[in-house]
Amino acid sequence: MNFFIDVIIPVPLKKLFTYSITASEFDFLKVGMRVAVPFGKSKIYTGIVYRIHNEAPLAYEAKDIQQILDETPIIHEKQLKLWQWVAKYYMCTMGDMMRAALPSAFILESETVVIKNKIKTIDESILKDDEFLVYEALNHQSSLKIHDISNILDKKNVLPVIKRLIEKEAVVVEEEVYEKYKPKLVRYVKLHTNFSSEVTLQKLLEDLGRAPKQRQVVMTLFMLSAGDKKPVKVSDLSVESGASSSIIKSLIDKGILEEYHIQTDRVQYSGEDNEATKALNSYQETALSEIKMTFETHHVTLLHGVTSSGKTEVYVKLIKTIIDQGKQVLYLLPEIALTTQLVKRLENYFGDQVAVFHSKYSSHERVEVWNHVLHNSEKAKIVLGARSSIFLPFNNLGLIIVDEEHEQSFKQFDPAPRYHARDTSVVLASIHGAKTLLGSATPSLESYFNAKQNKYGLVEITKRYNNIMMPDIELVDIKERFKKKLMRGHFSDRLIEEITETLNEKHQIILFQNRRGFSPIVECKTCGHSPQCPNCDVSLTYHQYRKQLRCHYCGYVEIMKRDCMACGGQDLDNKGFGTEQIEEEVKILFPDHKVARMDLDTTRGKYGYEKIITALEQQEIDILVGTQMLTKGLDFRNVKLVGIMNADNMLNFPDFRAHERSFQLMSQVSGRAGRTEERGKVLIQTYNPHHNILQQVSNNNYIDMFKEQINDRYNYKYPPIYKQIKITLKHKDYNRVETASIWYAKSLRRVFKDYVLGPESPPIARIRNQFHKNILVKIPKQQSLGKTKEAIIRINNSFLSVKDFRSVRVILNVDNF
Ligand code: ADP
Ligand code: ZN
Repeated sequence: MNFFIDVIIPVPLKKLFTYSITASEFDFLKVGMRVAVPFGKSKIYTGIVYRIHNEAPLAYEAKDIQQILDETPIIHEKQLKLWQWVAKYYMCTMGDMMRAALPSAFILESETVVIKNKIKTIDESILKDDEFLVYEALNHQSSLKIHDISNILDKKNVLPVIKRLIEKEAVVVEEEVYEKYKPKLVRYVKLHTNFSSEVTLQKLLEDLGRAPKQRQVVMTLFMLSAGDKKPVKVSDLSVESGASSSIIKSLIDKGILEEYHIQTDRVQYSGEDNEATKALNSYQETALSEIKMTFETHHVTLLHGVTSSGKTEVYVKLIKTIIDQGKQVLYLLPEIALTTQLVKRLENYFGDQVAVFHSKYSSHERVEVWNHVLHNSEKAKIVLGARSSIFLPFNNLGLIIVDEEHEQSFKQFDPAPRYHARDTSVVLASIHGAKTLLGSATPSLESYFNAKQNKYGLVEITKRYNNIMMPDIELVDIKERFKKKLMRGHFSDRLIEEITETLNEKHQIILFQNRRGFSPIVECKTCGHSPQCPNCDVSLTYHQYRKQLRCHYCGYVEIMKRDCMACGGQDLDNKGFGTEQIEEEVKILFPDHKVARMDLDTTRGKYGYEKIITALEQQEIDILVGTQMLTKGLDFRNVKLVGIMNADNMLNFPDFRAHERSFQLMSQVSGRAGRTEERGKVLIQTYNPHHNILQQVSNNNYIDMFKEQINDRYNYKYPPIYKQIKITLKHKDYNRVETASIWYAKSLRRVFKDYVLGPESPPIARIRNQFHKNILVKIPKQQSLGKTKEAIIRINNSFLSVKDFRSVRVILNVDNF
């Protein structure tokens, strides 16, 4: 009898590969374990065992696996089930899934790494152009992987180039196999057992009489270990005894102390004991019991509760009932910005049963959380994380909470899998027989629509906690005010008045501007030239602080020059404005107050957000200027005024969700005002105060917004009424991508008729030197989604078989945002 396994490898292949195993490997292997397998001519990949069987592949001879990497599975079959669903629904491969789901430390791979041949200097003139590019890149980077080289040369098949470089002795190839994850070990010491009796210890202390520092260390150790041989950290011992690490080391060398290591978790909770959860008010009580009731008939419930209605406390009660049943809870958040406050709140209730899965954490830290979840450990009963945490190896999930479910960042944009974490969590929950609770003050049209259709349960809280009033929202017509010269910079007289008053009352202020940088367009008043990104079809954004022009699409940076680069003119004009410019204007208008800024530029690094949020909480900041980062469910005690600098650029954004999104953003940022005691105030500056969305925001009228928008979606055949799949084609040659996209759209039209839109160039038609074309396929409710995707895949396959199109990148985005 022959034995085989089907293996997922982290490469986007359409099919799984079958490898041959021995009888004893057959007995040992389980689905979900890792194996090292050879692939292609010389590659070795980590694969995940997907199926174990006796069927030899028909089309090829199965190779042997190289080795087994695990003693026990690192994922459960439930995860594989989820991977399979995601791959099918979002049209990607299992290899894409493996890359997205596993911490990279789990993906050991022997990738070919190219390094410069240090032994020989070669004459560069013998190198062809492509060879030179690779060789040149090695001057800046000590090593390159195959995919780096593909990127540099912008093509897939780079092995011939590497081969030639090797033949010319310009580079050498290095094969590395490495395990990236090492558990963090902490050094501990204890007294050697030779000195465990009182007599020997006494003798030791006498002997050390001439070495007072060493004696002090031993005494301190004895004290710290409290006689019961508790392990003592070397670092603690050093601090307590005042001894340097070399003194401790000499004691270890002498055999007086014994050194050992204990694996500890990086992600540690060092808080106080658990706090009792808060008693709910009557609205929250009602909501909680309604949620429980809807769960009897629905798998998913939407909790629509206005900002500051106390949704989090309702979640907390629900979480408690689930973990009391011994089950796991996943608490999804759109972005980690939110976690700082929430982690504290949850840890106060649940102590170290809370684990955080954080994209800013190191790979090591993620592996630790992974293992806790895998083994259903007490340390990860409640997992708090952003979208990728849905791929953690849960085995006994009881509840998923998707907080701020309307947030777009739940949808992964790039790379594949382009999944929506909210929608995927509904599937994940059903695999576990668990429930999903979606929560928002401004639900997505999709979820509210599902609730209205009774597909989801619906529970509402319409009152803020403590009966605090919703903020008073005032629309400020800045067109008028510009005319009447009542504006100072971007600040209307009304906004200045309100800021002044709020500052006098010692309350805090949030100013919202949905763009970072200083100004998105710099224009020469003499010749009209404005600096463009060399790689993308966009204007560069001026960042004053660094005196730089930056591209927000590809990261290109150049120094801002004083004069126009085209005509040398000196009169440069800034059009539009970003957070940086607002910050500067506030500082000039209110020089005696502390101003800070929160956007992508000021929150880089692991504790970027935390620092600013803490400073605001500690009232070290009077006025905080920021982008939509500010909108995400933060709970600040003392913020009373919110200013929205310009509502129009959000409303006019060219996207079918622009109005929905504007409503959500403005309502959410308004919700930061007046969360305790006094009623908050919101000023929205706009050129168009009669816009329906602005009226709906100021009246806090979600239902009207929903009705009007859903009507538009219906009329224009947009989600959630129609499903849609966006197909993006990219190539560096415009003509090629145009021909390709016309061919593609034509083939689609043959099947889907009028439900195909495009090809169209997006507003930014070139990004990173690649021209883009979009095609949209709309899918009416009665049409099978599965069959639609099959047809698209067939067309895609014939597309890829056209020689001219093979170099065109095709991206399939199901339920695109
Ligand atoms: P939401 O998530 O709906 O915006 P939060 O859960 O953040 O609202 O609650 C708003 C504020 O009210 C928080 O500061 C929270 O601590 C407080 N709060 C909510 N419910 C209670 C309660 N039952 N008892 C005491 N304080 C509460
Ligand atoms: Zn660019």
